[in-house]
Amino acid sequence: MHICRGVQTNSAVMGCQELEHSTFPFLPALPPSAERSSIELCCSAFYSAGREADDEEKIMNVKGKVILSMLVVSTVIVVFWEYINSPEGSFLWIYHSKNPEVGDSSTQKGWWFPSWFNNRTHSYPEEEAVDKGDEQRKENSEELQLSDWFNPQKRPDVVTVTEWKAPVVWEGTYNKAILENYYARQKITVGLTVFAVGRYIEHYLEEFLISANRYFMVGHKVIFYIMVDDVSKMPLIELGPLRSFKVFEIKPEKRWQDISMMRMKIIGEHIVAHIQHEVDFLFCMDVDQVFQDSFGVETLGQSVAQLQAWWYKADPDEFTYERRKESAAYIPFGEGDFYYHAAIFGGTPTQVLNITQECFKGILQDKKNDIEAEWHDESHLNKYFLLNKPTKILSPEYCWDYHIGLPSDIKIVKISWQTKEYNLVRNNI
Ligand code: UDP
Ligand code: MN
Repeated sequence: MHICRGVQTNSAVMGCQELEHSTFPFLPALPPSAERSSIELCCSAFYSAGREADDEEKIMNVKGKVILSMLVVSTVIVVFWEYINSPEGSFLWIYHSKNPEVGDSSTQKGWWFPSWFNNRTHSYPEEEAVDKGDEQRKENSEELQLSDWFNPQKRPDVVTVTEWKAPVVWEGTYNKAILENYYARQKITVGLTVFAVGRYIEHYLEEFLISANRYFMVGHKVIFYIMVDDVSKMPLIELGPLRSFKVFEIKPEKRWQDISMMRMKIIGEHIVAHIQHEVDFLFCMDVDQVFQDSFGVETLGQSVAQLQAWWYKADPDEFTYERRKESAAYIPFGEGDFYYHAAIFGGTPTQVLNITQECFKGILQDKKNDIEAEWHDESHLNKYFLLNKPTKILSPEYCWDYHIGLPSDIKIVKISWQTKEYNLVRNNI
C-alpha cells in the first residue's frame, strides 16, 4: 500500500525499485535502465498483493498503471524527438562514440531513415553540403583509377603516356561512358575563363562562346568567366541549360603582350576571390579558337596541359622555349618534355591558382630585369610545366590548326584555331 502510493508520488521507476528491494528481496536486481521490466515487475507486485486488496486498492492499481503507461509513452516520445533532432540524424547518436564507423556514413542515413523522414533530413546542414557537392561527398565516392577509363594501347601510333606516367588523351584512348557516369555522380561544375580585350571582342568572342556552349562539358554544369574591357560590346548569346556566365570588366593593357600576360594575374585573383568556391575544375582558354566537337570530362584532371599542334612530334631541342638565361622562363637545351600551348590549360582551382601565380611571378621578375620571354605567358607556362609535371596532357586534337593540314593522327578536332589576323586585332604591332 505504502509503496504503491509511492508510485503515485515519486517517479515510477524509483517507486518500483523501492518496492522490489524492500518487499521482494528474493527477486533478481534490475539494471537501472530496465525501466520497462521494472514496470512489469511493479505490476506483478500489484497482482501478488491483490489477494487482500479492497476496491480502493483496485482503483489505485488502475491509477498507477495509467500513470506508468503515460510515463512510458512520454519516454518514448522524448527518445523519438531526440531521434529526429539529433545532429547525426538517427538513433545511432546514442552509440556514436562506440560505433563511429556506422554513425558517420551519410549513406547509412539513407537506410536508417524511413522515406517519410527524407524531407526533414535534407534540411540538415550536413545534407545540404552533400547535395552541393563539396569535398566530403567526393571523398565518399569511389576514386576512378586510370586503368578504369584509359587504354593507351588503342593509339599505338602516337605518344599516349608520359615518362612520369601521365595520360596523353587522344581520341580512342578513353572510355566516355565510364567517365560520364563517374562525373555525373559527382555533380561537378566546370569553369572556363576567356579574355577578349580590344578588337578581340567583336572578332572572336561570339563564335567562341556559341561553340563552347554547344561542345564544352555537355551535360555538366558550366560557368563561363568572361573578361572584357568593354561590357557594352558583349555579344548577346542564349546559353543552354546547366550553363551560366559571369562577365567582368578589366582594365586593358596598352601592349597586346601585356594583355596576354596579365591574364595570369587576373585569373589568379578571380580564383581566390570566388572561382575556388564555384567550380570543381577550371579551364583557361584563348578566345581566338572555335569548338568543333565534344570537349568533355576526359579532359579533367588536377593539372592539365595542351600539346601545341605545330610541335607535338618535334624534338625538345627544337622547341621555341625561352633560351636566354636571364629570363625566369629559361629552359636549357637538353631539357624539356613537350611544347605546351598556352591557349588551353586547366585543372582544379588550387592547381590553376598555383600555375597562374608562379607564371605571373616569372613575368614580374622578367619585367624587373627588363627582359620579356619570347612567347610571353606561354614561355612561363612551359617553364612551370617542366618543373611541375601536368597530371594530364591533351593531344593536339584538342587544339588543332588546320593550316597544318589533317594528318591521320588527328581523328577528331575538338577545337580549331582561328586564322591569325594580328594586323586586324592587335593594337600594337
Ligand atoms: N587577348 C586579347 N586582346 C589582345 C591580345 C590578347 O583579348 O589585344 C587575349 C585573347 O584571349 C587572346 C589571348 O589573349 O586569345 C592570347 O593572345 P593571342 O591569341 O593573340 O596569342 P597567340 O595565340 O597568337 O599566341
Ligand atoms: Mn591565341
